[in-house]
Amino acid sequence: MEPRMRPNNFSKDSMGLKIEELALQEVCEKIPTPFYIYSEANLVETASAYLQNSNANDLICYSVKANGNINLLKVLANLGMGFDVVSVGELKRALKAGAEAKKIVFSGVGKSESDLKFAAEQGIYSINIESAHEVELIKNLKESPRVSLRINPDMAANTHPYIETGKSDCKFGISETEALEIAKTYSSSEINLVGISAHIGSQITDTELFFELAEKLQALAEQIKKLGHNVDHIDVGGGLAIDYQLENQYDPAQLVKELKEKITGYDLLMEPGRSIVAQSGAVVTSVITEKTNGQRDFLVVDVGMNDLMRPALYSARHTIEEVQDSNAESKNYEVVGPVCETADSFGQNHNLNAKTGDQLIIYSTGAYGSSMGSNYNSRPKPAEILVSKDSFKVIRKAESFEDLIRLEEI
Ligand code: PLP
Repeated sequence: MEPRMRPNNFSKDSMGLKIEELALQEVCEKIPTPFYIYSEANLVETASAYLQNSNANDLICYSVKANGNINLLKVLANLGMGFDVVSVGELKRALKAGAEAKKIVFSGVGKSESDLKFAAEQGIYSINIESAHEVELIKNLKESPRVSLRINPDMAANTHPYIETGKSDCKFGISETEALEIAKTYSSSEINLVGISAHIGSQITDTELFFELAEKLQALAEQIKKLGHNVDHIDVGGGLAIDYQLENQYDPAQLVKELKEKITGYDLLMEPGRSIVAQSGAVVTSVITEKTNGQRDFLVVDVGMNDLMRPALYSARHTIEEVQDSNAESKNYEVVGPVCETADSFGQNHNLNAKTGDQLIIYSTGAYGSSMGSNYNSRPKPAEILVSKDSFKVIRKAESFEDLIRLEEI
């Protein structure tokens, strides 16, 4: 069999899979599957790659929506990262993790008056405005928060249609024309307009798009400055891809370096999520049963689309490997979950030598995995585990049936 590629800090020896210095089998003996597991070293490496070429005034804001577990946020806050949030819930998570308010940006197409008031009261770095209505609401706040205009630059990110956010037919941001209108209508004493931002989509493989975007935002910032506003930063959003096939690595350090060369006279702000946390996380699952329908061989596993939605939602394919090599015959399996939906499949043609009772690992699931999880089919959410060198800790307990019905009036 071909040697498999794995994310950094995941390896295999004769004892089976290891995360950092910890044998995964050890975790499997103590924690029932399914569970999410993260490598702290992997998380620190990718976050540090973003930070290494940025200056003290630049801000790399981890996008909390990718994975909001407070323990992971703490690791990132300790490195000096900022945070990008899209709800008051995410803002509270970041603050609870010890983030400095002045390192938080708040984006989102539908922020309510009370959301804006709460964010302003915290004294965050910037509220990224996405409509003229928001400007009116902000103008009336006594705090006069720092704001940035989130532009819809009408650029295709050439990604899955569900995660394209910068084309003119998307709901996000405002057009350049509208941004100039706002900058003309309101004086710098009415709104504290300090930034121009955009986020064109997720899983972007062509880094040239970031440079094109930076150029557009910078040109607009110059015009807005001429109208009397003190624009101090350009926010190019998030979106850098990861390779789910584990063959290539996109290089955040290089991206930041080149962006810094292109953006002059402004601080750089970025909002990466996936590229920071995706490769640090994996799902460990057990094979409930093997079955065939005469045309396909299935491995039915105990993790479902409610726990890991990406394959069902985006037709995403994650690399799957055995935790321990078993003596079963290798076959091309379709790996499917137990949820009552045909979409609950992790894809066909996974060449695996697993049998009932064995454990599998599904890689690259640290981003948009647990954070998109649900209780569909009344399935409690799985535990989350953080590995650091040769030890691990539970950073979210597995939910129980009681957790599922706790808020129901019975
Ligand atoms: N910023 C905003 C406004 C977003 O909507 C998103 C994700 O959709 C991100 C940042 C993070 O994107 P990614 O996880 O692809 O880096």
